[in-house]
Amino acid sequence: EFDLTAPFQPEFTTKDQVANRHKIRPILVPSANGDRFRLNENGLRSVLGHSAIQNRKVVIISVAGAFRKGKSFLLNFFLEYLYALQKSQQNETPLDWLGDDAQVHGFHWRSGAKRDTVGIWMWGEPIMIESPSGENLAVVLLDTQGAFDNQSTYQQCTTIFALSTIVSSLQIYNVVDAIQEDALQNLSLFVEYGRLATQHARQFGTPFQSLCFCVRDFKAPEEFAFGEEGGSQYMDHTPPGQAAELRATRDQLAACFDRLFCYLLPHPGHRVAERNSFKGHIKDLRPVFREEMRKMVVSLLSPEALRPKIVNGKPATCKRMMQYFKEYAATFDS
Ligand code: GDP
Ligand code: MG
Repeated sequence: EFDLTAPFQPEFTTKDQVANRHKIRPILVPSANGDRFRLNENGLRSVLGHSAIQNRKVVIISVAGAFRKGKSFLLNFFLEYLYALQKSQQNETPLDWLGDDAQVHGFHWRSGAKRDTVGIWMWGEPIMIESPSGENLAVVLLDTQGAFDNQSTYQQCTTIFALSTIVSSLQIYNVVDAIQEDALQNLSLFVEYGRLATQHARQFGTPFQSLCFCVRDFKAPEEFAFGEEGGSQYMDHTPPGQAAELRATRDQLAACFDRLFCYLLPHPGHRVAERNSFKGHIKDLRPVFREEMRKMVVSLLSPEALRPKIVNGKPATCKRMMQYFKEYAATFDS
């Protein structure tokens, strides 16, 4: 087993997070292996359990999808932005990120088979961001990964993906090239799972908050522009031949989330996609990718965009979130 415990953080403080960032690692919170589903309570506590933040509202952002589709790479842009944002808020300096010399890092990416665990990796600390109203929000990032390639992993993935949908305020479903029908079917299955698990909370409206499709290597920008607006048009159009079924799945998803939207991203360039030596250097990205990535990250994570996780109609604190995670993990552990 690996990375099941958090790196030692004697005193979590909401200051100096940027300076100490290099000490932080992702932690495998729940994992599934064969029939076993395991919640790493110590790991969870090491992220959310600090007394300094127990009453802070928590924002939980998950990126979910199959292996080798650039999820961790995407999350590393989120880290880059959030730490830069925090620094600019604390020092009252202009926000400066993704410069020519920047290098994204943090979540394991392009790593060996051992990392291909079905489970949820949580960034080892919440990143504290000030909201426009002056509240300090704890922003937690999740890397939810699985493979829908055979019967046994299918069940595990459904469970893991349902759990990450339940606990997050923003679930980003990462796909390559297009929103394929099978991806939609997988998604609607775990959304249904999550919906059933949270049924008692139905009096509080839609079960989940935001769902964002992120389409990587989108190949038809002349038809649908990169970014969010093209994404909406892309989501609303119906490819010939699959009208009825696709519509039904989409409607089902729309009924479960407060907000459903989509981003189309360009191909990052051959240095990212093909070279084993790629180390996350921003200067190696295609300029159009860098620009679209920048816009997407800002519109998802700026202080104005961050939404605390709502549990039973109320914003959840870090302390509440820890219990909530455990409650639902227990529901699935059978
Ligand atoms: P994950 O398994 O989904 O977390 O994928 P990773 O983030 O580890 O990325 C897997 C591989 O895809 C790495 O070699 C990346 O350099 C590459 N990659 C990352 N983002 C993209 C993308 O948007 N398009 C393409 N074609 N490759 C990407
Ligand atoms: Mg990954």
